[in-house]
Amino acid sequence: MKFVDLGRQYQSYRQEIDSAIHEIIKKTQFILGKPVEDLETALAAYVGVKHAIGVGSGTDGLLLALMAMDLRPGEEVITTPFTFIATAEVIALLKAKPVFVDIDPKSFNLDTGEMRDALAARQKAGAKVRGILPVSLYGQCPDMDEINEIASEFGLLVIEDACQSFGAKYKNRLSCGFNDMGVTSFFPSKPLGAYGDGGMVFTDDPEKADMIRCLRVHGQRARYKHEEIGLNARLDSIQAAIVLAKFAHFDEEIKARQEAARHYSELINQKIPEIQTPVVMPDRTCVYAQYTVRIPKGLRDQVTGFLKQEGIPFAIHYPVPVHLQPAFKGLGLGPGSFPYAEKAAEEVLSLPMHAFITPEEQEIVIDGLERAIGVAWTKKLK
Ligand SMILES: *Cc1c(COP(=O)(O)O)cnc(C)c1O
Repeated sequence: MKFVDLGRQYQSYRQEIDSAIHEIIKKTQFILGKPVEDLETALAAYVGVKHAIGVGSGTDGLLLALMAMDLRPGEEVITTPFTFIATAEVIALLKAKPVFVDIDPKSFNLDTGEMRDALAARQKAGAKVRGILPVSLYGQCPDMDEINEIASEFGLLVIEDACQSFGAKYKNRLSCGFNDMGVTSFFPSKPLGAYGDGGMVFTDDPEKADMIRCLRVHGQRARYKHEEIGLNARLDSIQAAIVLAKFAHFDEEIKARQEAARHYSELINQKIPEIQTPVVMPDRTCVYAQYTVRIPKGLRDQVTGFLKQEGIPFAIHYPVPVHLQPAFKGLGLGPGSFPYAEKAAEEVLSLPMHAFITPEEQEIVIDGLERAIGVAWTKKLK
């Protein structure tokens, strides 16, 4: 069994994907041009925004979005400590400062009450906060209306890190379309994945879109005329064609993921009530980039030891919160700074999840998990 079975997906759409790849090679349109434009057009229409810009990765997209808002050294951006490193990394790369706010333990997303308090404190300290970078973790968006309201109160921009949430809905609107900018990733194992790196930035703002287009090709708008200091952060044409071929099946894949999640939760609630299944807010949908449960009371690491022995795939998203990563030790934030994020890092466990997982495979996973919990309890009692 695989954690994400991309082979099965390939076998299902093989002809479409093969012909999309060969088409690019035949036309030798390797850098930008129609293949990238076609994907940009299709995904902008899907999300319901005016501009979509194909970029080299989700990380590139986040970096370019921050560059397009002209984030300056010493300025601050509010974000979550419970995410993949890229979210905070791009802020630090521009010599700006990530200001972490703890998560809501139920959804794992930024706690908006804590955010207000943090902003008030930073304002009082005379800091120059420029933006909020919320992450739609595991494929579910945070309370975006509330975040946008806070942003307008404090005069901030909002960039959604939607690297895990493409296709997710909040109040019937799609992820990547709520804020000043939204950024997704086509990393192979993401819900809409390429066969290598890729990403996309979404915005309704024509000036930011133009700036990101300019920055992704060495700051040029006309050839060899470099108006900005940019980088090479283009979406590869072959990757664009692959993503477009897979996009034709995206809505059915989301349904399959949601059905798999429903089956997991049903099994867990029946058999292993001490495990906490994912909570999806009533006004939202989740695309389950990860199906992530909580295993309480210090049992998680014993459970994963057992799963490893049994050959049942799993992952931990994420074992160390960003503020405790060595790369961020300069911020001086020790253990205890963000209790809910730290507790989540000790308790979360992601189970195999993709659109092609079978109910039988899910039953094997849950059966293994049930036995793992039994073994872990026994050891703990001794
Ligand atoms: C995957 C991911 C990224 C980075 O995307 P890449 O395409 O791998 O650069 C950023 N943020 C989050 C939350 C992610 O899950």
